[in-house]
This record gives sequence, C-alpha cells and structure tokens, in this order.
Amino acid sequence: ENTETGKAVRTTCPYCGVGCGVIATPDGNGGATIAGDTEHPANFGRLCSKGSALGETLALETRLLHPEIDGQRVTWDAALDHVSSRISDIKEEHGPGSIAFYLSGQLLTEDYYVANKLAKGFIGTPHVDTNSRLCMSSSVAGHKRAFGADIVPQCYDDLELADLIVLVGSNAAWCHPILYQRIQVARAERGVRVVVIDPRRTATCEGADLHLPIEPGKDSVLWNGLLVHLADKGLVDWRFIGDHTDGFPEALAEARGQAGSIASIAIETGLNGIDIETFFSWWSEAPKVVSCYSQGVNQSAQGTDKVNAIINCHLATGRIGKIGSGPLSLTGQPNAMGGREVGGLANMLAAHMGFSPADRSRVSRFWQAPNLITDEGLKAVQMFDAIADGRIKALWVMGTNPAVSLPQADYVRAALCKLELFVVSENVVSNDTAAEAGVRLPAAAWGEKDGTVTNSERRISRQRKFLPLAGEARPDWWILSEVAKRLGYERYFAFESVSDIFREHASLSHFENGGTRPFDLGVLTDLSPASYDQLAPVQWPISQPGASGTERLFGEGGFATPNGRARFVTVRMPKLAAEVNEAWPFVLNTGRVRDQWHTMTRTGLSPRLWSHISEPFVEVHPSDAETMGLVQGQLAEVETASGKAVLRTLINEGQAPGSIFAPIHWSGQNSSAGRIGALVHPFTDPVSGQPEAKATPARISPL
Ligand code: SF4
Repeated sequence: ENTETGKAVRTTCPYCGVGCGVIATPDGNGGATIAGDTEHPANFGRLCSKGSALGETLALETRLLHPEIDGQRVTWDAALDHVSSRISDIKEEHGPGSIAFYLSGQLLTEDYYVANKLAKGFIGTPHVDTNSRLCMSSSVAGHKRAFGADIVPQCYDDLELADLIVLVGSNAAWCHPILYQRIQVARAERGVRVVVIDPRRTATCEGADLHLPIEPGKDSVLWNGLLVHLADKGLVDWRFIGDHTDGFPEALAEARGQAGSIASIAIETGLNGIDIETFFSWWSEAPKVVSCYSQGVNQSAQGTDKVNAIINCHLATGRIGKIGSGPLSLTGQPNAMGGREVGGLANMLAAHMGFSPADRSRVSRFWQAPNLITDEGLKAVQMFDAIADGRIKALWVMGTNPAVSLPQADYVRAALCKLELFVVSENVVSNDTAAEAGVRLPAAAWGEKDGTVTNSERRISRQRKFLPLAGEARPDWWILSEVAKRLGYERYFAFESVSDIFREHASLSHFENGGTRPFDLGVLTDLSPASYDQLAPVQWPISQPGASGTERLFGEGGFATPNGRARFVTVRMPKLAAEVNEAWPFVLNTGRVRDQWHTMTRTGLSPRLWSHISEPFVEVHPSDAETMGLVQGQLAEVETASGKAVLRTLINEGQAPGSIFAPIHWSGQNSSAGRIGALVHPFTDPVSGQPEAKATPARISPL
C-alpha cells in the first residue's frame, strides 16, 4: 500500500474538472503535505487555493466511521444484509423501477462503473442519475446533437495557443482557477485576447479585454448573430461545411430571422451595439479562437441550444479540433466525464452506448446481465418527483447532497422522508441528505481510495491511495459489489481490485469487430495491476499502449454521426422558463465562491479557506439596493415561489440591475442557513433535463 510515511504519491485533486495533478506525502499522523505535480499536463505544478488546502481537510472529526441503521452502529455484514434484502423485497413487491440510484461526479470511474452495472444490468432499474445532471448535461446533449457523441474536441494547451479566448457563462477565475491562470499567462506573454460573456461582472472580467453583460438566457441570440455576421462577411469555411457538415442553410436561415442586425441583437440581449460589433470582429478576425462554456451556459432551460449555437459558429468556420481553435466545455466536477464514460446518466446505457438493439445486445452479452434495462430512466429532477409521489420506494445516494443542491431543496428533503429504503454512502457523519437516511454506509474518502478520473480535456488520471482507510470506511465499488453478491450475482461482481474493474470497463468500451469509435479504451484492456498503478495521465482516444493519447478531434471531420458529418443545429429564439413580474421582480442567479466546493463538507474544514468568504450573501446592484432600502452588510430576505433564505447584502456594481446573485454552498434546516437550492425552481432544459439554476424570479427585502 502507498501509505508509507514520507513517501510521495502522485494523485489528482478531488475538486473541479480541471483535474490537477497533486503530490501527497503522508506525515504518519493521518495527514499529508500537498504540492502540485509539476509533471501533470493539466496544471504543471500549480494548485489553486482549494487544491493547496487539501492537507487541511484530512482530519477524521467529521467522518462517518462505521455503518449505521436507523442511527445505530451495526457491522458491515448487518448493513449489507439489510440493504440487499430490502432491495430484493421492494423489487419483488413494486418492480425494479421502484428502485433508484443517485450518483455523483465525485465518484471514481470504477465506483461509477460498478453502480451502473448493478443497477442497469442486474437489479434492472433504469433510474440511475447523477449530480452531473446539474453540472454539464446540456453540454453532453449539445455534443451529441452536433458531433453524434459526447466528445470534447479540444485540449487545455489550446488555451495557450489561441489568439482569442471567449469564456461564456464561466467565472473561471474562481471556478477553474488553474485554467484561468494558464489563460492569463498567455495573455501576458502573447497578448491573447479574452472576452467574457456573463450577466455578472465577475472576478474573471478583471483579466478580460471585453465583458459582455448579456441578459440571462439570451446567449444563443448573440451566437446566432455571430453566425449571420460570419456568413454575410464571407468568413465561413465553405470547404469544411461542404465536406464535413449537414444543416448549415437551415441553421443560418433561423439565425437570420432572429438576429439579422446588430440593433436587433442589442435589443434582445441587452448588450451595447458597439460591444457586439467588437466581439463579432474579434471572433471573425482572430486566426485561432477557443470558446469555453461552463455553468452559465449549461445550467439553463435553454442550455443545450446555447451549446449548439456556440458550436455552430465553430463548425461554420472549420475552427474545431485545430491547434488553438475549437469549442471547449469546462466541466464542473472532477469526474463528471468519467461518469459519462461508464454511462452513469439516466439517458445512457454504458460506455457511450444508448438503447439501440445493437447496443443493448452488446452490453447484455458482455455483462451477461439477466435484467438489462430497455429504455432511459428518470433524470434527476423527475427522479425526486417520483420519490415524492411514491413511484420510487428505494433510493441509494452516493457521494452527493441533493437535499442542498437540487432545485426546490425543501421539497426534495420532504420527499426523502417517504422512502421505504433510503441508503447513503457518505464520507461525513451527517449532512442535510444523510440526516434523512435509514442506512448510512461509510465510504472511503480522497486519499484513502484508488481509481481514475477524467477531466474536461478527456484526460484520464489516477487518484491514488496515500492514507489508510478511516475507521470502517470502504471504497464504494467494494460496498456495491458486496450488495451485488448478496443479491445472488457474485460471479459478475467478483472484483478484487480497482484494476479488475478498470480492465472490464475498458473491454466494454472496445468494439473488436464493430469499427472504431472515439471512446474506445481497448489498448488499456490488458493493463496489469502494476501498469494500472503506474498509469500516466492519458487523453482518450488512445491509439497504442503507452501513448499519451489524442489531443484534438474532428479537425478534418470524422464525426461520430452515422454519416461522419457534424450537424448544425437550428437554434430557436430563447425564452426564459419564467419571466420576472410585479410579484417577483428580480432574477436570482446562483453559483460558486472561490474557496469553497459544493456543500463544503471538505473545504469547510480548512480555516484558511473560510477567510475568503465566511457567510452566505446576496449580491445586489446599487440602484436596486436603493430602491429596496437595502444597505451594505444588512441582512435581507430573498424569496421565490419555492422557498426563502436570509442572506447578508453585498452591494456590488458588477451585479446587473434587476438581477441578484447568491452562492450555492451553505446547508442547514432553516432559511437563515442560506441554503439556496431551496429557492431554485425546477425548470429544466427540454433536451438535457438540466435544471435552470441561473434565472429564478425572486424578490428581496430588508430583514
Ligand atoms: Fe483542484 Fe480545480 Fe484548483 Fe486544480 S483548479 S487545484 S483541480 S480545485
């Protein structure tokens, strides 16, 4: 085991989708010193505030250290017997569709794989979704519509090689800090221009050449306008369009109908006409452009259309998969992409396969699955509706806290109380979700487990163990496999190590006689345990063992659609799911702060990280503060039709008039705790199912 005192271990940061390499050196007292890995291609030794404070988050005071049933400590055997027998009973009485799994982009790929296999192939429930639904599912859907598969065409190095970088709906300075640092170095050294498209003037704008404070939900109008501009100025790449794409005339005609002139775009988006012209001319004239998009694009009831409106402009100019040029989705979580790879979303089956007869047949034969599902399951928001109305009777939540993070979090928490079986696999002894669970299973935490994660540029990196397991904690894959064995599936879940699971995952992804497809880990199917342990960061697709993988895709076509051609998507005029009105005059936007992660179960343990921002707040524009009688630092009540919260007022000129912003991280039972998920409406994108977390009608008043 790699837990020897003083022995440096290469691993990966467990926070954001940048996926920075970390060197952890155990101190022999349960802690470790942390440094950036100078050889990791995501960060080359850099770490942000959260990553560098990882050593302060390893103490065991808040850890769940042994299994519990109804609040009482039990043995592992008792807990596993209970979970498996209750799953059997509920399945027999109500059918497999009464059982659901809610997973997490925090899980390692191997944990995700075992959960997906158990649920979809053996228990036979399609209801497997993940908190990645809240994070990047609109990008997944946009990639599938345009490219035929969920594939990111670019790599991080492109940020240093571009002439123009556009950050759409991304506060990268706080949320992807190491990529932002790489961008800023390129800006200082090479004069790379940076444009930020965001309703708020965030910290990211401090390192930008142009900020476009677009009205919420209107991004695709701007990008449709750019498409028209490119066509009218003769700047499209007709060879690329003709050789490698379909649907350009239709997409352009729709764009022209809604965004024909700068004046009409300015009216629709709330932007200044001169700024729009500047953006269009910079984007058109820069030889190499990377357009990055993140939660401001994804967390939207128009999210998938926004993604496709951006991709349309890259396809029209052939600026895709080129050195320093292409669209780049910035994933929120450390392993959102690994979860997508194993199929851990409700609308996927496994290994980038869906529900076609051929895909089902292949997965069925490979797993020898007795109960393979036939169709998609419920996505996150609908899954919790099904719990609330009694269709789902049993839920297993792994590594996430939906009673805080999902829209209408009060409704979600109330729904959890209706379950006949509610299991959580958790690191912490309690949080808002675990507090409602009948069965709490102690899961191994970062530093105690082995596996892989995939970052935003398709790079698979190892997370390695450098600490002993805390108390009776066990890796998630082990817990799942033990339940599978008790359900009678021992021979299909006889994994002895994570490398066994990785090899099976890689084999499932590989089509021996079925042609090639981008997500194919075939060359990794024969990794020995030692080779797996030493696996260096690698970007799929991978052509041969030991190669570092593929940096870019689609530069010369070869898309994953049936005819190999990319698809322009006709993007209609966007409309917010709910508009402001007299009763609810403000748009509530939500997001992260620089030094906290999700619901703070880990980052909240570091005193240093609290020194940045120590309490929940709401940002208000000065003119709105004056109208509402709010003064700086005063407590305010923010309310929506879904819930309310008490927050400290921060008057900030960077906040757009008519819009307020609150962070997502705080938990707690009552409104003064600042649990902001309770206020967010459950509107979802019709294609991706991703909730609208950026535009809930709200009101605010002094407390
Ligand atoms: Fe970790 Fe993200 Fe910071 Fe890198 S940028 S150290 S992955 S939180």
